[in-house]
Amino acid sequence: MKISIVGTGYVGLVSGTCFADVGINVTCVDIDEKKIENLKNGIIPIYEPGLETMVHNNSEKGRLSFTTSIKESLENTDVIFIAVGTPPDEDGSADLKYVLEVARQIGKNMNHYMVVVTKSTVPIGTAQKVKAAITDELEKRGVEVDFDVASNPEFLKEGNAIEDFLKPDRIVVGTESEKAEKMMQRLYKPFLLNGHPIIFMDIPSSEMTKYAANSMLATKISFMNDMANLCEIVGADITSVRKGIGSDARIGNKFIYAGAGYGGSCFPKDVKAVIKTANDNGYSLRVLKAVEDVNNDQKHVLVSKIKEEFGYNLDKMTFALWGLSFKPKTDDMREAPSLVLIDELIKMGANVKAYDPVAMEEAERILGDKVEYGKDPYEVLIDADALIVITEWPEFRIPNFKVLEKLLKNKVIFDGRNIYDPEEIVENGFTYYSIGRKPFK
Ligand code: NAD
Repeated sequence: MKISIVGTGYVGLVSGTCFADVGINVTCVDIDEKKIENLKNGIIPIYEPGLETMVHNNSEKGRLSFTTSIKESLENTDVIFIAVGTPPDEDGSADLKYVLEVARQIGKNMNHYMVVVTKSTVPIGTAQKVKAAITDELEKRGVEVDFDVASNPEFLKEGNAIEDFLKPDRIVVGTESEKAEKMMQRLYKPFLLNGHPIIFMDIPSSEMTKYAANSMLATKISFMNDMANLCEIVGADITSVRKGIGSDARIGNKFIYAGAGYGGSCFPKDVKAVIKTANDNGYSLRVLKAVEDVNNDQKHVLVSKIKEEFGYNLDKMTFALWGLSFKPKTDDMREAPSLVLIDELIKMGANVKAYDPVAMEEAERILGDKVEYGKDPYEVLIDADALIVITEWPEFRIPNFKVLEKLLKNKVIFDGRNIYDPEEIVENGFTYYSIGRKPFK
């Protein structure tokens, strides 16, 4: 089998590499010439655990190749995936300009039957727009080529993307022809061993499934953050409440952690997009509007706690920040809560020194020299007034309190991810602010 994947970002590169790893011949396409040149030379554009070795192995075996030419990639291809970005448009809807541009390119160049699959997260109706764009181009060329469209949303999580792709909780595929369904079944067969299911459905339901999944996950987070804020007011502890509710099998203990808000390239934009889809169809998704509101506020809670401790004048104070990426094990800074925090601190006259195991290069690209970067977690503590933890990287979990005490001006920790045990922090003489719990002094 031979497939093409257009868009070599987090989703396209991981999917392409994993398909190649099970013996499929894969061509990855991107318009970014530098990215493709680098990939041909074994340089990986993103940080994703395990990806580099897999890209090298599969490139060496000749199963994984890279090109900037969709035309070239279409040769003998059975399935072509569209995995380009769908960023939010000004009105919150998913901007389909990249997806439809790829569809037009496919229409301009296809000469044999293939299945054209949207893997990007796209609103309901997009597969039909892709189909129309391809048909339009074929008509302009005056040729008739049979093809099918399908929808195959991606559920991988950055930081665990390879494992998620190789051992998926489920694979969702929307099709409108038996031929396409058989092709997709065959393609995914290697991933279905050990009981991982593939769920076939109609295309609109498949497109909607991705938005419903991300909306539900965002809802869990905002729900817990809302409860956490109430816990603080009434004197309860959200970490105990979490354990208490998570042990109910109907609720479950996954993804119910309070924190400093969700970020990333998916939840914020997908929640916005589905709210817009509802509005366009005369329906109001009231729950999701609240989810978005809570999250926007939650990104500011750490600053409120900083003001509670130090007062409103943070002028010339310095804060050490542990973590920058929107979550651990990725260098992705899109919509990261750290960006909101840094912006607020700087506006209030404070300085920020930050350390992140992998995201500093990406942060520097966005923030420039607004922030001073350190080569390790402890370097940024020198002469800082307090430590703020914003991303729960494993290496921050057991800090050396003796070194912290020596380097920090004040023994104060603000923990936006509840990774520390308050008792241990207080035993070490620190003041500890976290989420959904009273301050510990
Ligand atoms: P990304 O920004 O990392 O990568 C997109 C790539 O597409 C870029 O390399 C860009 O150069 C390329 N591109 C744009 N236009 C192109 C064109 N005309 N031809 C060829 N290449 C083109 O994006 P991503 O994070 O991989 O996300 C892709 C899609 O998958 C989005 O719709 C996103 O919502 C969805 N998704 C993302 C994740 C995630 O964790 N990142 C998970 C599931 C789904």
